[in-house]
Amino acid sequence: MTLAIGALRAEPGRKACGVLPADLGPTTVEVPLILVNGSRPGPRVVITGGVHGGEFIGVDAATRLAGLLEPGDVAGQVVICPVANPPAVYGGRLNISPLDGVNINRVFPGDKDGGPTDRMAAWLFEHLIDGADAYVDLHSGGIDQHLLDFVGYRLTGDDELDAKNRGMAHAVGYERVIFGTSPDAGRTARGCHRRTCAGPWRPD
Ligand SMILES: [Zn+2]
Repeated sequence: MTLAIGALRAEPGRKACGVLPADLGPTTVEVPLILVNGSRPGPRVVITGGVHGGEFIGVDAATRLAGLLEPGDVAGQVVICPVANPPAVYGGRLNISPLDGVNINRVFPGDKDGGPTDRMAAWLFEHLIDGADAYVDLHSGGIDQHLLDFVGYRLTGDDELDAKNRGMAHAVGYERVIFGTSPDAGRTARGCHRRTCAGPWRPD
């Protein structure tokens, strides 16, 4: 099946990369995307880095993965967004957007009629996360802190979904896997909890 997001398209067995515009109100940003459409059918996995501007490791990891992954290696589709929050990443800001001072990981799933960061969150949901079978959001230390490697996921109350999330989290291979038991409004993992969702993320 063709993998199409905005004007970007990748046929089965092909890889495509480009940028899509996101209208944030006072400015329009370009969101880089790499689409890897596998040679064989399977689920769609979305991976984001750069939700927080000061966390460089996820940006680097997602970019490297995008370079390494080939369609012949993939059963399903992989959508990689190395810089999910361009104003914060390119502004080198710790956790907030320089446009409005808002931490995007508090406002998911966002509001397309809201301020710039709400619009950015809504754009990510509409274009990337809503179409995903599984979602991985990469966070890390960076400007302000060092972190041990860990994977986090959040319990949803849906046993089948929780089992998938647990499986994804442990599949990363890190010794430390943590999970949240309470709803946590505004974070990516909360905003998409109806889907399979896990990733190295930190509790900010
Ligand atoms: Zn973060």
